[in-house]
Amino acid sequence: MSLNASEQNVLPPVAKSFFTFCKKCDIDRYHKVLAHKTATSAKIECEVCHSVKTYSLPKTKAKKTSGTTGVKRVGRAVSENQKKSSHKNEYESLMESPSKGEMLDYNIRSKFAESTKLKHPKFGLGYVKVAHSDKIEVIFSDEVKVLVHNRT
Ligand SMILES: [Zn+2]
Repeated sequence: MSLNASEQNVLPPVAKSFFTFCKKCDIDRYHKVLAHKTATSAKIECEVCHSVKTYSLPKTKAKKTSGTTGVKRVGRAVSENQKKSSHKNEYESLMESPSKGEMLDYNIRSKFAESTKLKHPKFGLGYVKVAHSDKIEVIFSDEVKVLVHNRT
């Protein structure tokens, strides 16, 4: 029976043999564990050529760190997509909701109330999310725009 050392995440016990690559023999050989150097490395001896070397466990910590970085990168990309799709969802649900008043053509002199729809010559159909005395925040299909209104 042979143990594949690379699949283990603990060191083989001292005085036991396990199967791992021998550089000198240039082939997988049984190695005897002479001593544990650290929690993740051991002094081992090839049973054939008797060369002594250090065997180290694969660094799982390093793997985890790079994995986390990868996740973060993916997370950023996902949140960017979510931002776009949530904007689209919000726009669509607002445009589907009943308007409080008539849909009006946007005009700088007209006054728009909150929760009404408007038609902009450049940006298309929009929904007034917030209305201030001189400005309105309008959600269009691509982005939210701040427009001037009620200009007298
Ligand atoms: Zn060897």
